Amino acid sequence: MSEPILIAGGGIGGLGAALALARAGHPVRLFERGAEFRELGAGIQLGPNVFGMFDRLGVRAAMEAQAAFPKALVMRCAIHGHEIARIPLEGMPARYGNPYAVIHRGDMLEALLAACRTTPGVSLETSRTVTGYEQDAAGVTLRFESGGPVRGAALVGADGLWSRIRAQLLGDGPPVVSGHIAYRAVLPMAEVPEGIPRNIVQLWAGPRLHLVHYPLRRGELMNLVAVFHSDRYEEGWDQAGDTALLWEHFAGTRPEVRAMLGKIDAWRFWVLCDREPQRGWSEGRVALLGDAAHPMLQYLAQGANMALEDAVCLADQLALHGDIPRALAEYEAQRVLRTGRVQTTARIFGEIYHAAGVRAELRDQWLAGRDPATAREGMAWLYDRPRWPGEPG
Ligand code: FAD
Repeated sequence: MSEPILIAGGGIGGLGAALALARAGHPVRLFERGAEFRELGAGIQLGPNVFGMFDRLGVRAAMEAQAAFPKALVMRCAIHGHEIARIPLEGMPARYGNPYAVIHRGDMLEALLAACRTTPGVSLETSRTVTGYEQDAAGVTLRFESGGPVRGAALVGADGLWSRIRAQLLGDGPPVVSGHIAYRAVLPMAEVPEGIPRNIVQLWAGPRLHLVHYPLRRGELMNLVAVFHSDRYEEGWDQAGDTALLWEHFAGTRPEVRAMLGKIDAWRFWVLCDREPQRGWSEGRVALLGDAAHPMLQYLAQGANMALEDAVCLADQLALHGDIPRALAEYEAQRVLRTGRVQTTARIFGEIYHAAGVRAELRDQWLAGRDPATAREGMAWLYDRPRWPGEPG
């Protein structure tokens, strides 16, 4: 058997890559620093574009069994309550061939993990913190905080926003701190206040803030993400959130918004970061994938979707080009403009959601009365299934 492809990081991107590569016949060794594979107890939105990846990874049925299928994406003013925009989601399969859905992160990770465990050629190792690598013409040697080095044919750095593989490959410093803080929580659906729609993705947009909520686990839970601008924190990832700070920012919002926020006692917070899109995320036998390659603000809800597109594209480029460095260079070339567009547009969407004063009025005027077909078509660049050379069929 040929030398394995090594993967640093076992999040959605790393597990997706392990599955895509193993299904294409490459033996894979994946190293996760955590003692177990784990995702947050929070939700993730699935654009129609990711369903084609689920098909390729053989996990569509598992994902659909756990997902919820909301009826619409709705934006409302968090201060005055009027509806700003509405995109009905029933029309998605007709236009894009795939639905728009939402899923619990734990369920998504579990589906990928279960598929990895039953796919020949995947080795998954936990409590293995990667520290760096060396490469030569024949392969890559991966080093760890403890335990001996491992040799492989190539290395995929899927180790997230603070990627050590990226630090070594690109050396471009820490991610960009946006000044936006996200508070997250999950509420049993039975506790959702009266009058709050249950089966839509609802975004309450306000000046320098928003609240988004949507159903999870076939409607058993409601996912909440509250975002506001603050320079209080420079760093923070999955830490206990100060409720007083949240209320300071949301004090002037609609009663429905405050009623939702008031239901949560324990928030976790994230200081949101991204990077400028950049080339150079592959070199020789090493390539980055997912947030390690192109971290983005979550305003288009696409980071995990992009990571799975990366995974499938990477496997296709390796199948198309026998030569590993050429395949990795082609993989980056196929992905860099698409992911760069999502990184850039996500920042713009953040500005649209958080607009204040005349800018907010202009946004409302611009979006008012858009017919659903036009609204759906406006997202075609993102939701249409991406294509690249080497795809089967
Ligand atoms: P990660 O999930 O960060 O995984 C990296 C893995 O590598 C982790 O398991 C980590 O433990 C491991 N690791 C790190 N360093 C090492 C090391 N040195 N050695 C070994 N292992 C290591 N995306 C969507 O598609 N839809 C959404 O609706 C959405 N909503 C979001 C909402 C918020 C508030 C945020 C912050 C993000 C959201 N995203 C969304 C983005 C999405 O969560 C990420 O883009 C995605 O999880 C990235 O996956 P990844 O595997 O690349 O990185």
